[in-house]
Amino acid sequence: MNLTARILLGMGLGLLLGVLLQWIALPEGHFFSRYFTYGVIEAGGDLFIKLLKMMVVPLVLVSLVCGSASLGATGKVGRLGGKTIGLYLMTTAIAVTLALSLALIVDPGLSASDQAIEAPAYTAKQAPSIIDTLVNIVPDNPIAAMTEGKMLQVILFAVLLGLAMSRTGEAGARVLKVFDDLNVIVMKLVTMLIQLAPYGVFCLMVKLGVTVGWAEIGKLLAYFLTVAGALAVHMLLVYPLLLKFLSGLNPIVYLRKMREPMLVAFSSSSSGATLPVTLRTVEHRVGVKNNVASFAVPLGATINMDGTAIMQGVATVFIAQFYGFALGPDDFLMVVLTATLASIGTAAVPGVGLIMLAMVLGQVGLPLEGIGLIIGVDRLLDMMRTAVNVTGDGMVATVVAKSEDELDMEIFHDPEAGRVVGNA
Ligand code: ASP
Repeated sequence: MNLTARILLGMGLGLLLGVLLQWIALPEGHFFSRYFTYGVIEAGGDLFIKLLKMMVVPLVLVSLVCGSASLGATGKVGRLGGKTIGLYLMTTAIAVTLALSLALIVDPGLSASDQAIEAPAYTAKQAPSIIDTLVNIVPDNPIAAMTEGKMLQVILFAVLLGLAMSRTGEAGARVLKVFDDLNVIVMKLVTMLIQLAPYGVFCLMVKLGVTVGWAEIGKLLAYFLTVAGALAVHMLLVYPLLLKFLSGLNPIVYLRKMREPMLVAFSSSSSGATLPVTLRTVEHRVGVKNNVASFAVPLGATINMDGTAIMQGVATVFIAQFYGFALGPDDFLMVVLTATLASIGTAAVPGVGLIMLAMVLGQVGLPLEGIGLIIGVDRLLDMMRTAVNVTGDGMVATVVAKSEDELDMEIFHDPEAGRVVGNA
């Protein structure tokens, strides 16, 4: 069985077991819950995510130094950076617009207010301002940035280091050779760890099955389905169309190859933790060359959150309708702008999209307590939107690579390319 099939099997079995356990409803503190569900299973899920996270900083640093050193020699860095960031912002703006349009058709807030849902108290956390985010791209200390996992800072440092390497003749070439070798080794480790994915996602899905609040979802069904619908349209219609029109590539081939990162993103709710899987897939399965992938994918995982922006668009309309606020065209424009910028500041970890929603709501004067309304259904939506987030990162990387002639078409068209088989 190939890895994707094994991951799917792990997910299915895990979810089934989790739902069964929720249905059986063991008494609190029961031996089985304590040692199995919240013991072995919870630890298994955490371990898998930690193993992936462990790889993020070494992988980004090593791979991006190689990528930017090879680009540095061609002088393409500026153009490539501009194109990638431009496309990330564009896809996010499309995502919010789609979400707002769909929400205005479905009117999820109107049906919810009929059911007189009581919003639990929610104290909005302080969202970082855009200016702070931009200034903070430059680290005071690159080592601290690495130890704290500050991705934008690590990215900037790696790009600059690579550029300098490409300009220092023999010394640069010698060190680059070491980085090239390290890159192969770190990637190998990622491939080894990915083989644990079926077990990791099994554990994560058991936990989801046990804890998912079906009743909450039932109460907010219109909101839940609007977000899920917009995510599906974005993933299955917008991305394929963009890929086709911007690069002429077959979107089905792309989506099939991206199944592993999508599944890991869904299970982990973290595009940051999924980054090693995304980067490996985009390079070795889709065929984007290292010099584009090593820059575009980590950057995307950090600043590109189309799925999150979709949730924020629908949530804004939902909250406005629920509290009886009328939003005008200016407000919608403001939502598109803020949600797009908020996605830059959204950390690639579970649930942060909801914190950044406070910034969007604040801009158009909506009550922040509204976030309390939707918090109960956010867990599952977080999983779905994270899968969209990583698919978008890979899509932009592929489009940029194709436009720069940095896409290996042989790999792209080979269904077996980069597949994890046996003991990698
Ligand atoms: N969990 C999302 C991600 O990691 C961020 C969010 O929407 O909360 O991409």
